[in-house]
Amino acid sequence: MLEVADALKIVVEHARALAPQRLPIREAAGKVLAEPVVSDIDSPPHNKSLVDGYAVRRAEVDGQEAALGVVEEITAGLVPTMAIGAGQAARIMTGAPVPIGADAVVMVERTKLDAAAQPLPRVTIAPHTIPPGGNILPLGAEFRRNDIVLNPKQILTPSAIGLLAEVGRRDVLIQPQPTVAILATGNELVAAHTLPGPGQIRNSNGPLLDALIRSFGGRTIDLGIARDEPESLRTKIAAGLQADVLVVSGGVSAGVLDLVPGVLAELGVKTLFHRIELKPGRPLWCGLYSEGGRERLVFGLPGNPVSSLVCCQLFVRPALAIMAGFPPRGMEKRKGKLAADYAHRGARPTFHPGRLVPEHDNGEVATLPWRGSADLHTLSQADCLIHFHAGNYSLPSGSEVDVYVM
Ligand code: AMP
Ligand code: MG
Repeated sequence: MLEVADALKIVVEHARALAPQRLPIREAAGKVLAEPVVSDIDSPPHNKSLVDGYAVRRAEVDGQEAALGVVEEITAGLVPTMAIGAGQAARIMTGAPVPIGADAVVMVERTKLDAAAQPLPRVTIAPHTIPPGGNILPLGAEFRRNDIVLNPKQILTPSAIGLLAEVGRRDVLIQPQPTVAILATGNELVAAHTLPGPGQIRNSNGPLLDALIRSFGGRTIDLGIARDEPESLRTKIAAGLQADVLVVSGGVSAGVLDLVPGVLAELGVKTLFHRIELKPGRPLWCGLYSEGGRERLVFGLPGNPVSSLVCCQLFVRPALAIMAGFPPRGMEKRKGKLAADYAHRGARPTFHPGRLVPEHDNGEVATLPWRGSADLHTLSQADCLIHFHAGNYSLPSGSEVDVYVM
C-alpha cells in the first residue's frame, strides 16, 4: 500500500497554481499579489517639506537668531515661483515643494511673523540647531520611478492598497484562493440543527472541514449531505466538480454503501490513489477531474472525524497552498518529547492527536486518549499530531518524537 510520503508526492505533482485574476484595488485587500508592481512616479515627487514652517538657507539661521523677508507662501498643491536668496525665506506647508535656494525648513513653532513689515513680511527665527536638509524629504527618497514597490506573493494589506493607488494602479493581478466544495455523505447523517433519530448522527465533518479549509485559505462551498445512493451522490458530486477542489467525506471505505469511488469514476474522475498506509485515514481516496482544460483535485476523506481531519491536514492543506501560489506548505514539523510513556501497536504509521504542554514550553507533548477515530471531544483538545512509526513497541516518557503542529 502507498506510503504517506508517496501519496503526498502524487498530490503535490497534480496541484497547480490557479491562474492570476485582475481585480480593482478596492477588492484586492487581503489577497496575494501575483505580479511585481512598478512605480510610474518618484516619491515624493519633489523635495517635500515635512512640517509647516519656513523654507530657509540653513547657513543663515543655524544656531543663531535671524530675521528674514518672506517672499511667498507655498501651500500643498502649489509650486514655488521664486528662488530663496540671501536674507529670504518662504512660508511653506507640509507636503509642499521646497523652493530652489532653500536647504532646510524651520518649524513654525520656532518662528514669529511680522506680517505688516515692509517691503516684505518678516519672520524672526529663534536660535536653534538645524541639520542639513532639516525637515525636507528629498525627491525620490521613498522610491524612484520604475522601482518595484511590491513583490509577488505579498499579502495586500490596507497600506499596500494605498501604495497601489499612489503608484497609479486602478487594478492589480492577484493569486485567487481556491474554491473548495465540501460534501458529507451518509444515510446516518442529519444536519447539526436537528435532533438525531435512532441510528442517526449529526454531520460534524461538514462544519469541521469547512472551518479547517477556510483556515488554510480555501473559499468553501457547502454542498450539505448526500445519501448513500448513486443518484443523490451523482447530483451533489457533479455540482462539487465545478469548484477548484472537491472534498467528499465518507463513503470511501470497504462497506456495502461506500459508493463514492464508483460514482466519481462514473462522472469521469480519474483515480490517483485509493488507500494508504496511515492511521487514521487508510481509506483515503484521491483523484483528478479534467474538464475544459482545467484540472480539479478530488479528495474522498474517510468519514470518521479524526481521519477526515488528519487527511485534510496532510493532503488537502499542501494542495491548497500550491493552488494559492505558495510552496506545498503543510503542518509545521518539530521535535517533541513525550510527556508520558507510550505503547504503540499497529502495522501502520500513526498520526496521534496530541497536545503541546505549554507550562513547560520545552517541546513536551502529551498523547491524548484515543477512543477511536470518531472522538471529536478529545480531538477538540488537540493542537498537534504526534507521528509514530509502524510496529509494536514502547517509548518511555522523554522519548523524542516528530510533532506536527496544527
Ligand atoms: P464512512 O467513511 O462513510 O464509512 O464513515 C465512517 C464513520 O464516520 C461512520 O461511523 C460514520 O457514521 C462517520 N461519519 C461519516 N460521515 C460523517 C460526518 N459527516 N460527520 C460525522 N461522522 C461521520
Ligand atoms: Mg458512510
